[in-house]
Amino acid sequence: MLSRIDRLLEGIEDSCAVLISGYPNIFYYSGFTSEDAYLLLSKDRRLIITDSRYTIQAKEQAVGFDVVDISRGWGAIFGGISETSLCFEEEKMTVAEYSKLKSAAHGKEFVKGQDVIDAPRRVKDKEEIRLISEAEKIGDEAFSHVLEFVRPGITELEVALELETYMKKNGASGLSFETIAASGVRSAMPHGAASEKVIEKGDFLTLDFGCVYKGYCSDMTRTVVVGRADERQREIYGTVLKAQQAAIDGIYDGIACAEADAIARRIISDAGYGENFGHSLGHSVGIEIHERPNFSPKSKDTLENGNVLSVEPGIYIDGFGGVRIEDLIAVSDGEIIDLTHSPKELIEL
Ligand code: ZN
Ligand code: ZN
Repeated sequence: MLSRIDRLLEGIEDSCAVLISGYPNIFYYSGFTSEDAYLLLSKDRRLIITDSRYTIQAKEQAVGFDVVDISRGWGAIFGGISETSLCFEEEKMTVAEYSKLKSAAHGKEFVKGQDVIDAPRRVKDKEEIRLISEAEKIGDEAFSHVLEFVRPGITELEVALELETYMKKNGASGLSFETIAASGVRSAMPHGAASEKVIEKGDFLTLDFGCVYKGYCSDMTRTVVVGRADERQREIYGTVLKAQQAAIDGIYDGIACAEADAIARRIISDAGYGENFGHSLGHSVGIEIHERPNFSPKSKDTLENGNVLSVEPGIYIDGFGGVRIEDLIAVSDGEIIDLTHSPKELIEL
């Protein structure tokens, strides 16, 4: 953790200390697993500021940090820091918090630092990739488990609950995001959270779900047909699968992220469904479910060693239904590794 802080501080001016207020970076830089804390990092100080409910936990988890009780007051805490400005997380602080801290900061300048503070998390080390891979494995197993459970007559919510229970029984501490279980015409909604809709014979069923394992998220999507697929379902499914596989096969360490998106988009457009693929090809995954860089048409980023991203093209047709297939890929030692192992050929239940 301390070498992560060294890397962060290398990219920041000497006159600037860093104030971290959001859970993902608190966890990343200190190992502390509650969001009720702040980290204050300067050239010579590593402070974790929390209240009496968490001081014992902070001493155990945040190795190398001095634990400061927040009851000391921000005036005294900032008074011990010689830097003249504070680089802070503008996306992880309320306006009320900002005003309170600013008025206690002895005139120190507050500088927006979200991108700089997040940047080291783009490149995962081998242990982080292992944890994401373990999380994804729980997802794979949950998917094969739920295939035995899905049948006409049950609701999307029941399917979601079955997936979630399985993941928690098998090592997950929580969910990466609200489980998506969208069937029939609802599968045309890329983010259709599970509802009371009853699954019917002939429905597409899109399951997009993930869990948290030791602080790291998984994310995967599979679409199945409940019953026999018709011609149109087959054609749409086949197109998404072809686009997804071509993107995974075509991605390499150093590819422009926009080009990775284009590989899949070209196939979907050539099949006549360009208008029906409205989102980006993928996003990074780590401590948070949506991190950077992204595989998006507008991205200026380049894929690099240590990145972990989703590859998730989809086709969504209003009034008919939709298909998405999503794997996670990691770049490790310059190679692309697919972390998702669930089958991708069309499953008819
Ligand atoms: Zn997903
Ligand atoms: Zn995703």
